[in-house]
Amino acid sequence: MAYFEGTKEEFYKFLGPRTSDIVTEISRPKRKHQKSCKDEDIDDNGKKKVCGKWKSLDAAHLKDRTRKILITEILEDFAEKNIKQSTYKITLDKFEEEFRNKHKDFFNVIQFRCRKHHRAYDNKYKVEDLQDEIVIPTVETYTPDFEIDSNTKSEFIKKFIVPKISYLKNDNCRIARVSKDNWNFNPTVKELKKDFYLLCYNQVDFSVAILKIEKNTLQIKAKTTDKKKISLNIPYSESDFFEKKTDKNLEFLESFELKS
Ligand SMILES: [Zn+2]
Repeated sequence: MAYFEGTKEEFYKFLGPRTSDIVTEISRPKRKHQKSCKDEDIDDNGKKKVCGKWKSLDAAHLKDRTRKILITEILEDFAEKNIKQSTYKITLDKFEEEFRNKHKDFFNVIQFRCRKHHRAYDNKYKVEDLQDEIVIPTVETYTPDFEIDSNTKSEFIKKFIVPKISYLKNDNCRIARVSKDNWNFNPTVKELKKDFYLLCYNQVDFSVAILKIEKNTLQIKAKTTDKKKISLNIPYSESDFFEKKTDKNLEFLESFELKS
């Protein structure tokens, strides 16, 4: 049976990389349950704003659940100790098993944070952990049954997406691609009387963010001459989505990438 014997520092150094692999593996399916960074910023007006970044997030261990702390606990509880030499001996299987066990109550051990908020959190609590960052990209991908490139028509993409997402219907969502750093939508007044969804499509990396407008919550006057259509402008963002004219934050529901 393979085992490792060494000081705590040696455990960190030699088994640290292995623990990142395990954390990556455990974290990946959990991204479904925390889709974006929940940390808050204070804006210029002193108002709190949830970060909301979603594309790739760090699996950030909480301040008293760092990998160093978890490793130390495992060594204290399960390893053979040599007090004279301050070394520990444990089989690799047992070590891995216990390291996985430490993550059973996942969200009390790890929060997904964007890199900026991960750093801010670690600085605030003076967290000292293994140095390597564990990045978990957004997990959801869909594989279109057609060739996709930057010229693929958005309506074509919408047609592909709608049947995949349970709450979407042909008539309760619209899609837009990034144009001059904005997503522009022109829903009808009538459409916004029901819950409505905006598919913010990025034709460069083929990602889609879905935003929700709850029924009757967006008060914009119709602009078109027939008074039937509203124009919505959402500045391109990977985190906070708001409608320009009303300054209203739009609820981010989920995101995914289209991959051929
Ligand atoms: Zn963040």
